Amino acid sequence: AEHHLARIAAAAGLNAFIDVDPAVTLAAARAADARLGAGERGPLLGLPLAHKDVFVTRDWRSTAGSKMLEQYRSPFDATVVERLAAAGAVCVGKTNMDAFAMGSSNENSYFGAVRNPWNHAAVPGGSSGGSAAAVAARLVPAATGTDTGGSIRQPASFTGITGIKPTYGRVSRYGMIAFASSLDQAGPMARSAADCAVLLNAMAGADPRDSTSLERPAEDFTARLGQAWGAPGSGTGAPAAAAATSTPLAGLRIGLPKEYFGAGLAADVRAAVDAALAEFQRLGATLVDVSLPKTELSIPVYYVIAPAEASSNLSRFDGVRFGHRAAQYGDLDDMYRKSRTEGFGDEVKRRILTGAYVLSHGYYDAYYLQAQKIRRIIAQDFQQAFAACDLIMGPVAPTVAWNIGEKADDPVAMYLADIYTLSASLAGLPGMSVPAGFGASGVGAAGVGAAGVGAAGVGAAGVGAAGVDATGLPVGLQIIGNYFDEARMLQVADAFQ
Ligand code: GLN
Repeated sequence: AEHHLARIAAAAGLNAFIDVDPAVTLAAARAADARLGAGERGPLLGLPLAHKDVFVTRDWRSTAGSKMLEQYRSPFDATVVERLAAAGAVCVGKTNMDAFAMGSSNENSYFGAVRNPWNHAAVPGGSSGGSAAAVAARLVPAATGTDTGGSIRQPASFTGITGIKPTYGRVSRYGMIAFASSLDQAGPMARSAADCAVLLNAMAGADPRDSTSLERPAEDFTARLGQAWGAPGSGTGAPAAAAATSTPLAGLRIGLPKEYFGAGLAADVRAAVDAALAEFQRLGATLVDVSLPKTELSIPVYYVIAPAEASSNLSRFDGVRFGHRAAQYGDLDDMYRKSRTEGFGDEVKRRILTGAYVLSHGYYDAYYLQAQKIRRIIAQDFQQAFAACDLIMGPVAPTVAWNIGEKADDPVAMYLADIYTLSASLAGLPGMSVPAGFGASGVGAAGVGAAGVGAAGVGAAGVGAAGVDATGLPVGLQIIGNYFDEARMLQVADAFQ
């Protein structure tokens, strides 16, 4: 814990953390030591980890990246936080994020942009950008994230780490500050699929305090690691070890949606994804063509449904029950108006306006209801695809990480970059990002100087002195599974890693 706290302090220039409290962390580390001393054992006992600031915590502020909750302290811990602490994980602090998890670059944070550890001029992705940067820069071995339309997968892709968004309902949303309740899902972000499996074991499971969490038989997400694809299920009997064969993934059918490889996919990302797919073939898998015909519609559908739910969820921030209250106001309405005007940033306001509009009388049928219908078709399209394949693979995002500021004034350009992650979210399917390689060095040293980024805090991140790696920026491979196929996805990702 001391080591990781020191790394966090030395890499302050990345701006990956919003709240760190060494005294609290060291006390938790001593408690974990005592449990170890008493003979207790467990894979997470004593493991330092960071929580995205969307999870409420008693011991740290819970800001959701917003001014609205800048000073908010929760009287309780989120279920995810509680479960990981019970398993002995030691929280080192709360990570930076786009305000209320709205964004794809972490530039919508009230606490400032996070820098990509591979190149400090580039964004780390969003909204779980702080968690991604913290893991990528080795400030912490693992972190939690949330994914509503890509916020675990896309920052994992942009920073070269592994992250999984489980099936909707797999992990409790209790104590996760809500963005779009029918889409929000928590998951782990770590260095490998094997690490994610261990973390997911502690995070997953039904919770009586979240009625959308699902009752499932207990499952060990590490059970299939190291096994061949065709091995019989869940670790009973002698596993057919993958090591015993040079084609451990023989029998695996990987579906490639043609809509994920069309115009709009950058050549460098395509090359890295193709190289990863060739490696899967070498491991014994076969590639099959599938189609997800409504992929393009996932953008308008998501950007109707998510803001609609957000406009409702964010109505609780009224300056009375929660959050920032304006210092000066007239009557009650004026107090609401001023408090919300001051507490919410531009992107959050844009979502609230869009959401209130699509839900309003006269527009509900044309927008919200229509979006719900297409959402169902998107889910059906996946089931059709899964009739011909076991897992779907493709890019996570059309490009590598862009420069800080590059899309900041163009929200629609930012929304379009979510094209490959939104569909799985709308369908409630599990999706993950696995490092596939590197794209062309898009920004280069000149971009760093132009953005005015100094070398401060860079050395600790373990990259070059200017934070620029000549190999370019990371590219993630997306793996989408059918409902509750997380153990299979992690098995396959682990075989690849
Ligand atoms: N980029 C998407 C948005 O801005 C997804 C964010 C998320 O998954 N939390 O809504």
